[in-house]
Amino acid sequence: MTTQDHSIAEARERLLAERAQVQSELEQLRARLETKGDYGLGEGDPMIYQWELNLALAERAEQHLAEIEQALEQLQLGVYGRCERCGKPIEPERLAVLSHTTVCSQCAQRRR
Ligand SMILES: [Zn+2]
Repeated sequence: MTTQDHSIAEARERLLAERAQVQSELEQLRARLETKGDYGLGEGDPMIYQWELNLALAERAEQHLAEIEQALEQLQLGVYGRCERCGKPIEPERLAVLSHTTVCSQCAQRRR
């Protein structure tokens, strides 16, 4: 097993764990969002802000999940860890904290 194989196996494990976590978060948020009708929330109701917050969180979790799926796909194709913009390898330190990222730190900064 080469060092690269090892880090890919590690990344895969991390991504799968992350996906499971985000999925359960999303399920909880969706369950809470479904209770809206039970409260009979109307405009100006303070509960509506909590509901809107949950909605925003759920949307973010969905986005996160899509990024994780994309990274897993890249792992399968053998292109994981490569910047989709410049094609250079993404810094291992960056992948360690942002395992689902698809761009290197330089390109990520340029995007802002
Ligand atoms: Zn790049």
